[in-house]
Amino acid sequence: MAQNLFQKVWDAHTVRTLPSGQTQLFIGLHLVHEVTSPQAFQMLRDRDLQVAYPGRTFATVDHIVPTDQVSRPFADDMAEQMIAAIEENARQFDIPLLDLEDERQGIVHVIGPELGLTQPGMTIACGDSHTSTHGAFGSIAFGIGTSQVRDVLATQCLALDPLKVRRIEVTGALGKGVYAKDVTLDVIRRLGVKGGVGYAYEYAGSVMQSMDMEGRMTVCNMAIEGGARAGYVNPDQTTFAYLRDRAYTPSGEAFDRAVDWWLSTGSDPGADYDNVCTIDGSAIEPTVTWGITPGQGVGIRESVPLPTDLPDDERALAEEAYAYMDLKPGAAIAGTPVDVAFVGSCTNGRHSDLREAARIVEGRKVSGNVKALAVPGSREVRKAAEAEGLHEIFRQAGFEWRGAGCSMCLAMNPDKLQGRQLCASSSNRNFKGRQGSPTGRTVLMSPAMVAAAAVAGELVDVRTMLNGREA
Ligand code: SF4
Repeated sequence: MAQNLFQKVWDAHTVRTLPSGQTQLFIGLHLVHEVTSPQAFQMLRDRDLQVAYPGRTFATVDHIVPTDQVSRPFADDMAEQMIAAIEENARQFDIPLLDLEDERQGIVHVIGPELGLTQPGMTIACGDSHTSTHGAFGSIAFGIGTSQVRDVLATQCLALDPLKVRRIEVTGALGKGVYAKDVTLDVIRRLGVKGGVGYAYEYAGSVMQSMDMEGRMTVCNMAIEGGARAGYVNPDQTTFAYLRDRAYTPSGEAFDRAVDWWLSTGSDPGADYDNVCTIDGSAIEPTVTWGITPGQGVGIRESVPLPTDLPDDERALAEEAYAYMDLKPGAAIAGTPVDVAFVGSCTNGRHSDLREAARIVEGRKVSGNVKALAVPGSREVRKAAEAEGLHEIFRQAGFEWRGAGCSMCLAMNPDKLQGRQLCASSSNRNFKGRQGSPTGRTVLMSPAMVAAAAVAGELVDVRTMLNGREA
């Protein structure tokens, strides 16, 4: 019977059906970071348990890492305790840790693919919401809570209910100045932040097929923001080309055998889906959020919606958003003044993201009143970007060029908004207070749009700044 990728990967990793009716699912790869793991390791110690599969467990440090100057002990006691804990836990439980001395350190969802740990047909778990990123490779990847981190450490398994699968076909081709970030924001705008609850999203169609792996990661990264537990793209030659010669992928003939297996995990023609929706990719505009959820988005040429434009059940949240964001219903979103510009995060802190942003700022200057940060997602990304001179382009334009980490996405390190500052951000969440100030405001957009906002000092359509600079 024709199956979709989710069904195949789920079945291949099913250990048994539990008396509760849930599936005991084997987890192929467990990624760990410093924020959600200390209590889980302590629970192991309390029960005198070991890590079941240390070889399937990889740890890194990302959330609390300062991106300007890294010297130990950190000024922030809490951050120092977290990093000391993961160092000790990695030592005691014999887990590889990409620590601050390691050239491979970076955001957990950047380093997994970069090292080739993330592969098609896998089940992947991490104590972090944006684990859905790894689905770009045709894996089933989801975020888990701390007690589930403990379960995976102790057993390499999770007790889970299977998901329904919605196929989202993005047809046609994206216009100039429209990126993967716009696709994922558009999907969430249409289907809502709860539209994916109970689902995995299979992203397909000509736009996804022609998208590079970094774009696919951006799209899958935000599946969780649309309520989907996981998002994935069927593996293809683009996937395999990315994975070839990565540190943890098979090599030689073993790689060719792996490709055969990876291809077999893809959705069959005629596979069943619980739901299918189609989006015309050529109609997607550069998109920005105007509110306090990733679903409150508009095209840059549109206006902030009027309450009467919205369904009844969205009006209360919209009223809250207008007040918090200090935006007028019905006003144009373009022209909104920006205080901070942030290019980075596990959504958009990869090489191609930095390249697109640099393309816009090259030969231009950041507006006088804007603080602008370019933060690579990993040390490898930083090295690759520097090898082609992107750091110089950013610096000459007035951006701060930083070290690798989560930085201002969640502001668990010193990179925080101040007061009511409004940040044009390439990250993934615009919740109240997300970027370190309880009253700070976040507007989500593509890295190129962030770069354009940094230069203009206000939200602006990046297409007006392309002038032949598009890739
Ligand atoms: S970059 Fe942001 S969303 Fe991604 S792992 Fe770090 S804090 Fe989480």
